[in-house]
Amino acid sequence: MFPHITTTDTTPSVSPQIVSTSEVIRWSAETGNPHADQALAVTVPAITTDLTATNWNTGGGEFWWNTGSIAIRLRQQIFISSDLSACARGVWTGHENLHVADNRTILNGLAAEVARDSSLQDIFSGRHFLRSDFSLIQQTIINIISGIFRRQTGRQVALRDTRAEYSRVNQAILRSCPGPHYHTVARGENLSMLSDFYYGNQGHATQIYEQNRGVIGSNPNLILPGQRLELPRI
Ligand SMILES: [Zn+2]
Repeated sequence: MFPHITTTDTTPSVSPQIVSTSEVIRWSAETGNPHADQALAVTVPAITTDLTATNWNTGGGEFWWNTGSIAIRLRQQIFISSDLSACARGVWTGHENLHVADNRTILNGLAAEVARDSSLQDIFSGRHFLRSDFSLIQQTIINIISGIFRRQTGRQVALRDTRAEYSRVNQAILRSCPGPHYHTVARGENLSMLSDFYYGNQGHATQIYEQNRGVIGSNPNLILPGQRLELPRI
Protein backbone atom coordinates (compact mmCIF):
# COMPACT_ATOMS: atom_id res chain seq x y z
CA MET A 1 0.00 0.00 0.00
CA PHE A 2 1.34 3.42 -0.97
CA PRO A 3 1.57 6.02 1.82
CA HIS A 4 -0.73 9.00 1.79
CA ILE A 5 1.15 12.14 0.63
CA THR A 6 0.52 15.63 1.96
CA THR A 7 2.07 18.77 0.46
CA THR A 8 2.39 22.17 2.16
CA ASP A 9 3.87 25.47 1.06
CA THR A 10 5.73 26.76 4.12
CA THR A 11 7.09 29.87 2.38
CA PRO A 12 6.15 32.72 4.78
CA SER A 13 6.26 35.50 2.17
CA VAL A 14 8.58 35.69 -0.77
CA SER A 15 10.43 38.98 -0.46
CA PRO A 16 13.67 39.22 -2.43
CA GLN A 17 17.08 39.05 -0.77
CA ILE A 18 19.73 41.26 -2.37
CA VAL A 19 22.94 39.39 -3.28
CA SER A 20 25.81 39.71 -5.78
CA THR A 21 25.16 39.10 -9.48
CA SER A 22 27.58 36.15 -9.44
CA GLU A 23 25.53 34.49 -6.73
CA VAL A 24 22.34 35.00 -8.78
CA ILE A 25 24.03 33.44 -11.82
CA ARG A 26 25.31 30.48 -9.79
CA TRP A 27 21.83 29.74 -8.38
CA SER A 28 20.22 30.27 -11.79
CA ALA A 29 22.48 27.69 -13.42
CA GLU A 30 21.60 25.28 -10.62
CA THR A 31 17.85 25.69 -11.20
CA GLY A 32 18.19 24.84 -14.92
CA ASN A 33 17.95 28.34 -16.41
CA PRO A 34 19.23 28.20 -20.04
CA HIS A 35 20.03 31.95 -19.86
CA ALA A 36 21.61 31.84 -16.40
CA ASP A 37 24.48 34.10 -17.46
CA GLN A 38 21.98 36.92 -18.10
CA ALA A 39 19.93 36.35 -14.95
CA LEU A 40 19.70 39.19 -12.41
CA ALA A 41 17.17 37.48 -10.17
CA VAL A 42 16.37 33.89 -9.32
CA THR A 43 13.78 31.90 -7.40
CA VAL A 44 15.17 28.92 -5.50
CA PRO A 45 12.57 26.32 -4.46
CA ALA A 46 13.48 23.59 -1.99
CA ILE A 47 11.44 20.76 -0.60
CA THR A 48 11.87 18.78 2.57
CA THR A 49 10.44 15.29 2.85
CA ASP A 50 9.26 14.01 6.20
CA LEU A 51 8.89 10.23 6.49
CA THR A 52 8.33 10.10 10.23
CA ALA A 53 4.61 9.36 9.79
CA THR A 54 5.26 6.31 7.62
CA ASN A 55 4.68 3.00 9.39
CA TRP A 56 6.67 -0.17 9.00
CA ASN A 57 6.70 -3.65 10.45
CA THR A 58 9.67 -5.73 11.36
CA GLY A 59 10.03 -9.51 11.42
CA GLY A 60 13.25 -11.41 11.85
CA GLY A 61 16.02 -9.33 10.35
CA GLU A 62 13.65 -7.68 7.85
CA PHE A 63 11.29 -4.75 7.62
CA TRP A 64 8.52 -3.76 5.21
CA TRP A 65 6.36 -0.65 4.86
CA ASN A 66 2.89 -0.87 6.24
CA THR A 67 1.20 2.45 5.47
CA GLY A 68 1.19 5.95 6.92
CA SER A 69 1.96 9.26 5.25
CA ILE A 70 4.76 11.28 3.68
CA ALA A 71 4.80 15.03 4.24
CA ILE A 72 6.41 17.20 1.53
CA ARG A 73 7.05 20.85 2.35
CA LEU A 74 8.06 23.58 -0.11
CA ARG A 75 10.00 26.70 0.78
CA GLN A 76 10.97 29.33 -1.80
CA GLN A 77 13.51 32.12 -1.78
CA ILE A 78 14.08 34.95 -4.27
CA PHE A 79 17.61 36.31 -4.74
CA ILE A 80 18.07 39.53 -6.67
CA SER A 81 21.19 41.33 -7.91
CA SER A 82 22.64 44.22 -5.95
CA ASP A 83 23.59 45.80 -9.33
CA LEU A 84 19.94 46.71 -10.04
CA SER A 85 18.12 49.92 -9.21
CA ALA A 86 15.09 49.65 -6.94
CA CYS A 87 12.88 50.15 -9.99
CA ALA A 88 14.59 47.38 -11.99
CA ARG A 89 14.38 45.10 -8.94
CA GLY A 90 10.63 45.64 -8.99
CA VAL A 91 10.40 44.54 -12.64
CA TRP A 92 12.54 41.44 -11.99
CA THR A 93 10.47 40.62 -8.91
CA GLY A 94 7.40 40.55 -11.17
CA HIS A 95 9.14 37.91 -13.29
CA GLU A 96 10.22 35.94 -10.21
CA ASN A 97 6.67 35.82 -8.91
CA LEU A 98 5.79 33.85 -12.05
CA HIS A 99 8.34 31.25 -10.93
CA VAL A 100 6.88 31.28 -7.41
CA ALA A 101 3.46 30.50 -8.90
CA ASP A 102 4.96 27.80 -11.18
CA ASN A 103 6.55 26.07 -8.19
CA ARG A 104 3.29 26.14 -6.23
CA THR A 105 1.53 24.53 -9.19
CA ILE A 106 4.22 21.84 -9.30
CA LEU A 107 3.82 21.23 -5.56
CA ASN A 108 0.06 20.83 -6.00
CA GLY A 109 0.60 18.07 -8.56
CA LEU A 110 3.52 16.46 -6.79
CA ALA A 111 1.61 13.88 -4.72
CA ALA A 112 0.11 12.32 -7.84
CA GLU A 113 3.47 12.35 -9.65
CA VAL A 114 5.30 10.80 -6.69
CA ALA A 115 2.64 8.08 -6.33
CA ARG A 116 3.14 7.15 -10.00
CA ASP A 117 6.89 6.63 -9.61
CA SER A 118 7.71 2.96 -10.24
CA SER A 119 10.79 2.88 -7.98
CA LEU A 120 8.71 4.18 -5.08
CA GLN A 121 5.87 1.79 -5.88
CA ASP A 122 8.43 -0.97 -5.77
CA ILE A 123 9.69 0.11 -2.36
CA PHE A 124 6.20 0.35 -0.89
CA SER A 125 4.76 -2.73 -2.58
CA GLY A 126 5.23 -5.11 0.33
CA ARG A 127 8.79 -6.07 -0.51
CA HIS A 128 10.92 -7.02 2.45
CA PHE A 129 14.26 -5.33 3.08
CA LEU A 130 17.08 -6.06 5.47
CA ARG A 131 16.51 -4.28 8.78
CA SER A 132 20.06 -2.94 8.59
CA ASP A 133 19.17 -1.11 5.33
CA PHE A 134 16.35 0.89 6.91
CA SER A 135 18.03 4.32 6.93
CA LEU A 136 19.50 3.73 3.47
CA ILE A 137 16.07 3.00 2.00
CA GLN A 138 14.55 6.00 3.78
CA GLN A 139 17.24 8.16 2.15
CA THR A 140 16.53 6.55 -1.23
CA ILE A 141 12.86 7.54 -0.92
CA ILE A 142 13.81 11.13 -0.10
CA ASN A 143 16.26 11.24 -3.02
CA ILE A 144 13.66 9.93 -5.49
CA ILE A 145 11.05 12.48 -4.37
CA SER A 146 13.48 15.41 -4.54
CA GLY A 147 14.68 14.14 -7.94
CA ILE A 148 11.10 14.23 -9.27
CA PHE A 149 10.67 17.78 -7.93
CA ARG A 150 13.99 18.99 -9.41
CA ARG A 151 13.14 17.51 -12.82
CA GLN A 152 9.75 19.23 -12.85
CA THR A 153 11.04 22.61 -11.67
CA GLY A 154 13.99 22.42 -14.09
CA ARG A 155 11.63 21.77 -17.01
CA GLN A 156 9.41 24.68 -15.94
CA VAL A 157 12.38 27.08 -15.56
CA ALA A 158 13.54 26.19 -19.09
CA LEU A 159 10.04 27.00 -20.41
CA ARG A 160 9.80 30.25 -18.42
CA ASP A 161 13.31 31.68 -18.84
CA THR A 162 13.33 32.06 -22.59
CA ARG A 163 15.20 34.72 -24.52
CA ALA A 164 11.82 36.27 -25.38
CA GLU A 165 10.92 36.55 -21.68
CA TYR A 166 14.30 38.07 -20.85
CA SER A 167 13.78 40.52 -23.69
CA ARG A 168 10.35 41.44 -22.27
CA VAL A 169 11.81 42.06 -18.78
CA ASN A 170 14.67 44.20 -20.15
CA GLN A 171 12.39 46.23 -22.41
CA ALA A 172 10.13 46.93 -19.43
CA ILE A 173 13.09 48.13 -17.34
CA LEU A 174 14.42 50.30 -20.17
CA ARG A 175 10.96 51.81 -20.74
CA SER A 176 9.94 52.41 -17.14
CA CYS A 177 13.03 52.72 -14.95
CA PRO A 178 15.24 55.82 -14.74
CA GLY A 179 19.02 55.61 -14.67
CA PRO A 180 21.43 53.97 -17.11
CA HIS A 181 20.78 50.42 -18.34
CA TYR A 182 23.80 48.37 -19.38
CA HIS A 183 24.43 45.26 -21.44
CA THR A 184 27.57 43.15 -21.20
CA VAL A 185 28.32 41.70 -24.62
CA ALA A 186 28.28 37.89 -24.87
CA ARG A 187 29.96 35.77 -27.54
CA GLY A 188 28.22 35.83 -30.91
CA GLU A 189 26.20 39.01 -30.36
CA ASN A 190 25.95 42.01 -32.69
CA LEU A 191 24.25 45.40 -32.42
CA SER A 192 21.19 44.35 -34.47
CA MET A 193 20.56 41.50 -32.04
CA LEU A 194 20.89 43.87 -29.08
CA SER A 195 18.50 46.33 -30.72
CA ASP A 196 15.97 43.54 -31.21
CA PHE A 197 16.43 42.31 -27.63
CA TYR A 198 16.13 45.71 -25.92
CA TYR A 199 13.74 47.59 -28.23
CA GLY A 200 11.79 44.82 -29.98
CA ASN A 201 13.16 45.59 -33.46
CA GLN A 202 16.50 45.84 -35.23
CA GLY A 203 16.18 49.52 -36.10
CA HIS A 204 18.23 50.98 -33.24
CA ALA A 205 21.65 49.39 -33.85
CA THR A 206 23.09 52.73 -35.02
CA GLN A 207 21.82 54.53 -31.90
CA ILE A 208 23.39 51.89 -29.66
CA TYR A 209 26.63 52.35 -31.59
CA GLU A 210 26.59 56.16 -31.33
CA GLN A 211 26.03 55.92 -27.57
CA ASN A 212 28.98 53.53 -27.15
CA ARG A 213 31.44 54.64 -29.86
CA GLY A 214 34.09 55.14 -27.17
CA VAL A 215 33.84 51.50 -26.09
CA ILE A 216 33.26 49.85 -29.48
CA GLY A 217 35.74 51.88 -31.59
CA SER A 218 35.46 52.62 -35.29
CA ASN A 219 33.83 49.38 -36.46
CA PRO A 220 30.13 49.06 -35.50
CA ASN A 221 30.10 45.50 -36.87
CA LEU A 222 32.59 44.31 -34.27
CA ILE A 223 31.58 44.15 -30.63
CA LEU A 224 33.55 41.97 -28.26
CA PRO A 225 32.50 39.71 -25.38
CA GLY A 226 32.81 41.53 -22.06
CA GLN A 227 32.29 45.05 -23.47
CA ARG A 228 29.82 46.97 -21.32
CA LEU A 229 27.39 49.00 -23.42
CA GLU A 230 24.91 51.58 -22.23
CA LEU A 231 21.53 51.26 -23.89
CA PRO A 232 20.23 54.61 -25.17
CA ARG A 233 16.73 55.89 -24.26
CA ILE A 234 14.62 55.89 -27.39
ZN1 LIG B 1 13.36 33.44 -14.44
